[in-house]
Amino acid sequence: MKKVCIVCGQELPIEQFPENRRMPDGHLGWCFECFALRTWKPKQHQIEPVAEEPTPEEQPAPVEPSKPKRSPKVIRRYKRSEESKERNRIRARQYYYEHRERCIANQRRYRQTEQGRKRKAEHMRAYRKTEKYQAWLKARNAQRREAYAQKRLERQ
Ligand SMILES: [Zn+2]
Repeated sequence: MKKVCIVCGQELPIEQFPENRRMPDGHLGWCFECFALRTWKPKQHQIEPVAEEPTPEEQPAPVEPSKPKRSPKVIRRYKRSEESKERNRIRARQYYYEHRERCIANQRRYRQTEQGRKRKAEHMRAYRKTEKYQAWLKARNAQRREAYAQKRLERQ
């Protein structure tokens, strides 16, 4: 299976895309190379593919007519699409990498507000129902039982 990277536009085997369970096909829309570049060099890498230098023989590209205005209905449909959601996720991630300190400070401030505390409690309630949490809890309890048994042995 192949997939086109939304950043560099290359068609690559699906294994070249980082796994992401939230995506319909289980992989992010950008390839590992673009993912790495965006992650580590946010300012040096453009999200749009860089246009190649035109060769002297090439005619300048004709000016494209401006796009027709989209109806609110079309825009609304686009905003709900996976494509738009992923673009937003990428933008948010990019913003986070570029303003990490500020984001962390904001999160900390938000968590101290009434609403932030509520959200956190809601999140934890949902998280405690997940298999991941249940597995972690099981492992932790087993560990505690073992430590307790060890202590009792030592006391005897
Ligand atoms: Zn790419």
